[in-house]
Amino acid sequence: MDDGAPYSRPAWQQLLADAVTTPAELLTLLDLDPTLPALDYARLRGFPLRVPRGFVARMRRGDPQDPLFLQVWPSSAEAQTVPGYGVDAVGDLNKLKAGGIIHKYQGRALVIATGACAINCRYCFRRHFPYSDALAVRGQWRETLAQLAADPTIEEVILSGGDPLALSDDKLAALVAGLEAIPHIQRLRLHTRVPVVLPERVDAALLGWLAQSRLQKVIVLHVNHGAEVDAAVNQACARLRNTGATLLNQAVLLKGINDSTAALKLLSEKLIICGVLPYYLHLLDRVQGAAHFDVEEVTAKVLMSQLSAQLPGYLVPRLVREIPGEPAKTLLPWP
Ligand SMILES: *Cc1c(COP(=O)(O)O)cnc(C)c1O
Ligand code: SF4
Repeated sequence: MDDGAPYSRPAWQQLLADAVTTPAELLTLLDLDPTLPALDYARLRGFPLRVPRGFVARMRRGDPQDPLFLQVWPSSAEAQTVPGYGVDAVGDLNKLKAGGIIHKYQGRALVIATGACAINCRYCFRRHFPYSDALAVRGQWRETLAQLAADPTIEEVILSGGDPLALSDDKLAALVAGLEAIPHIQRLRLHTRVPVVLPERVDAALLGWLAQSRLQKVIVLHVNHGAEVDAAVNQACARLRNTGATLLNQAVLLKGINDSTAALKLLSEKLIICGVLPYYLHLLDRVQGAAHFDVEEVTAKVLMSQLSAQLPGYLVPRLVREIPGEPAKTLLPWP
């Protein structure tokens, strides 16, 4: 594989650097109308377009409604100001502690390990997050580890971001070694979209430190549509499972992308082929610039009841909304 020369840059870092970053190039690659309205440049600068070429290759050419394209296309609708949609949709900012830690739920601490992502998803609730102020630790995890070691109620550490797998394996291995040295930490969870949007990232170096860890490993992927899953993603999932990790998925319910029973059913079916169980289906966090993706709660509940009538129970995700101040994600019942 790509782990031969000790000082060579891993292949995935080159792919990350080669991502598509301009609307014009994306439209050209997909044979789309070059005049398709996009977000104005000033706003786009704050949250740029970014999509790995391998993910673009899974989009249907010539189709401006393609469900993968819509997740990354900076539409002019993002400029609308909609009441109720703010910059800190889930109340994370006032929960952020030293070391980049967000400790909202009992037993689990979430670490903002990096602000970087392999892809910029237009609906992202962290799109306005002031990472440069918040950032844990620039390669030095001392403060983060000290905070986690000082609280014996923490059994599980969730690496999030951004996307933790945007970090180098050296940095991740160092952090995980530090976590392993804290006796009360039992589980390591990764919240990542990288194995889906850049499956090449799942290389020998990553698998190496993951497989060696004494911690129980849970990897929560983020796939919203069945068309995101191809043979390379399937293989990346198989490799991750071989390290002993449990694989789950969280999706966001997105208007025009996966808000149909057929799309949600296809998603669950594609996931289980990869050995991934659906975990959460999130209602959109109401973040500024993402209102055009919102699906109403009543619609979501109808979709859930139809889905549950067509799939085995283990392929039906939990419909949740994050409500600031609650002790857990809020499960939404459907009849
Ligand atoms: C969502 C979240 C978790 C994990 O919640 P689970 O219900 O265990 O998946 C933990 N910490 C924070 C801050 C979160 O937002
Ligand atoms: S990968 Fe995750 S954190 Fe990054 S932009 Fe997409 S949804 Fe947001």
